[in-house]
Amino acid sequence: MIHSTRSGLTGRLTLNGHDLEAQSTYNWFKSEDSRASSNIIISPRETIRAVPDDRYAWHAKEHSYSMYSIEVTQALPHQMYWDEQYQKAANVTRKWCNMSGIPKVYIPVYEPGMKGITGHEDSTQGRRDGKSDPGSEWDWPYFMWLVKKDYLVAPAPAPTTDKAIVWHNGFTYAERWGHHWYLGSQEVVQRYLVRGWPDAVARAPRGSRLDL
Ligand SMILES: [Zn+2]
Repeated sequence: MIHSTRSGLTGRLTLNGHDLEAQSTYNWFKSEDSRASSNIIISPRETIRAVPDDRYAWHAKEHSYSMYSIEVTQALPHQMYWDEQYQKAANVTRKWCNMSGIPKVYIPVYEPGMKGITGHEDSTQGRRDGKSDPGSEWDWPYFMWLVKKDYLVAPAPAPTTDKAIVWHNGFTYAERWGHHWYLGSQEVVQRYLVRGWPDAVARAPRGSRLDL
């Protein structure tokens, strides 16, 4: 099951902010007060082990008895995920699937007893308790393509969102609804190349605004 951390702290949109988000999530899980945990926490630069693979973390009430969990750092619901987070989460998920015979399928409406991969918001408990993670920014077709990549030669699916890339001051920004989020540089280009955007789009000159 995929979760996102959602500290709500607006100062955590940068790469360093993601690291803080990962560390504070780990610290929170270590405290008795949290009464929650996760097998793995993933930021763009770090993968932190919280609970070993020989047991399930307590992460989604009744589903915790039968599902591994990943917390992906995302401080705010509309913050974009990094390609590194997709790659790391897919590597972990693929390993769990191969190890435990979990089918590599996404389950958009998860009920207890089903076998596959789902999000907290898609689960019985998540729907009942109003959970919204990993949310609209989590690109399930891309993530599932990565999980199955070992076995597929098909091209990456087209992007499911309407993000535009803007080069500015040496960084790549994703622009959406008039807001800018810091994303870094090369990573974003790689992500969009992987996802099948034309080279002309991914390598547009600095300062050019792309209408996508
Ligand atoms: Zn969650």
